[in-house]
Amino acid sequence: MAEVNPEGDKKSEGRQAQAVAERRPEYNVSGKGDSSATQPVDRFERFVCKPLGENTVDSRAQKIIDDATDKSKGSLEQRGVRSVQQILDQYYGRKDVKVEWDPKVVGLRTDGPGKITVGEEYVKRMSRWNFADRVTSVGHELEHFKQYKDPNLSGKDKGNEREFLAKKWSASAVEKPGTGFISIRTRVGYIDGALALLEKTPGLEEKYRAQKEELIKYREFLEKCPPDH
Ligand SMILES: [Zn+2]
Repeated sequence: MAEVNPEGDKKSEGRQAQAVAERRPEYNVSGKGDSSATQPVDRFERFVCKPLGENTVDSRAQKIIDDATDKSKGSLEQRGVRSVQQILDQYYGRKDVKVEWDPKVVGLRTDGPGKITVGEEYVKRMSRWNFADRVTSVGHELEHFKQYKDPNLSGKDKGNEREFLAKKWSASAVEKPGTGFISIRTRVGYIDGALALLEKTPGLEEKYRAQKEELIKYREFLEKCPPDH
């Protein structure tokens, strides 16, 4: 999954405070924090611009970021694998997932249930500004795990459908508490990725027409929000 969130480390606290004042609480999806990608009828209940500063990065999150980015705490491979293991444990209660390293992977990759591959890009650019998205990326891969167990989605020919549903999940995912916020640009990137998959995959656009309309409406809404970077 591609990273579309720009680094924002140099932004001042003042701009954050201003952004908070301009925003209202985050939106929710179908009244549930964890909507499943295997429930394609999910709709976004309401659209609101999210606050940038309310869901602050707490000390537990900062520890994972520090462990991942401090060169004295192991090789890039060790830090990358460990960061995904820590996120799985802390935010999803999963200790049973095998985490492997492939430096060339951008973001994370899953080829089947039970294993996530992490690459250089995921760990090298981790920061408090994109941590919520890093955590959500792990959730995205866990959505793929669920899909592989669903007979309607597990087929080899269903790759684009699985990715569409998982990108839609990412676009609407509610950030885990204490991890910060996913930027509007990042969410728009997930929406565009999901829409592109619909357009290029025969039959998919017809099957998910309602979801497509919902994503387009959501994108139009996000475009009107105050910029968050
Ligand atoms: Zn995916």
